[in-house]
Amino acid sequence: AKAGGKGERRFFSPRMQDVISERLLLEEDINRGVAAQEFCVYFQAQFNSNNDLIGAEALVRWQHPIRGLLAPGAFIGVAEAAGIMSKIDRVVLLRSCEQMAIWAQTPIFKDITVSVNISPAQLYQQGFVEEVLKVVQETGANPTLLKLELTESMLVTDMHQAIERMRRFKEAGIRFAIDDFGTGYSSLQYLQQLPLDQLKIDQSFVRRLPEDNSSLAIIRAVIAMATSLGLEVIAEGLETKAQRDMLLANGCRLYQGYLYAKPQPADQVKTLCEIK
Ligand code: C2E
Ligand code: CA
Ligand code: CA
Ligand code: CA
Repeated sequence: AKAGGKGERRFFSPRMQDVISERLLLEEDINRGVAAQEFCVYFQAQFNSNNDLIGAEALVRWQHPIRGLLAPGAFIGVAEAAGIMSKIDRVVLLRSCEQMAIWAQTPIFKDITVSVNISPAQLYQQGFVEEVLKVVQETGANPTLLKLELTESMLVTDMHQAIERMRRFKEAGIRFAIDDFGTGYSSLQYLQQLPLDQLKIDQSFVRRLPEDNSSLAIIRAVIAMATSLGLEVIAEGLETKAQRDMLLANGCRLYQGYLYAKPQPADQVKTLCEIK
């Protein structure tokens, strides 16, 4: 920290004050953006090994009037710390379910799943299950095509409550994926206790294929775990055909990544992948 002049003691260095006021400004701006309906949802298509469209992940974007289109990295940290991420999450869930109802009317899209990211605070929020079920019901979305993405670290916070809530979602037909799998705490025992449907292999492992042997070893272990538990496994962050080939050779048949499609507005999601 920079010393204050003339022996004066400062709690915050000037730089820290800048950081703090920047965060406050961003927080205010997020609140404004939510009210002005600037948050929207992009969808990234997911494909199987036959190159059939099988699903899409909903990814939030902020269409900022001055800063342009912002990815979550530009605001999620501040939004979560300020406790206002749930406002954004609500928008994402509503838009996703509305889109599911639209896709249900389109033959080529009618069976695709839509995966929605759940933030840590959301899962444990009072009334969360009821809120989601209400949105599903009001939009007319098919709950069996809705997938909620959770992370390992969220689940260990309060495993019993997490399981209890997950069971209530499962009763309504909603499915679960564990996001960024392999980066957090995981054991077969804890996985076995959760009503899961899918594991998502984190892109940090996929990115290091085909060269890196330790990433391949982890991916193989994840696929073996998923298989033994009867779970689907999808790899994310595929950018090359070599990565796809190696995943396929090791038994992973579902893919999401720039190789196939980038996140796009719903009306630009393509049913055919353009893999080179
Ligand atoms: P995630 O859930 O792991 O989502 C995948 C991220 O990887 C997305 O970044 C996606 O655009 C990016 N990606 C997909 N394919 C590739 C690829 O081939 N190469 C590379 N380099 N990147 C790829 P995005 O959209 O910036 O989202 C970042 C993170 O923000 C997400 O990571 C998720 O944790 C969070 N997030 C996104 N939308 C929401 C939301 O609606 N609610 C909550 N709570 N979190 C969200
Ligand atoms: Ca995700
Ligand atoms: Ca992920
Ligand atoms: Ca992530």
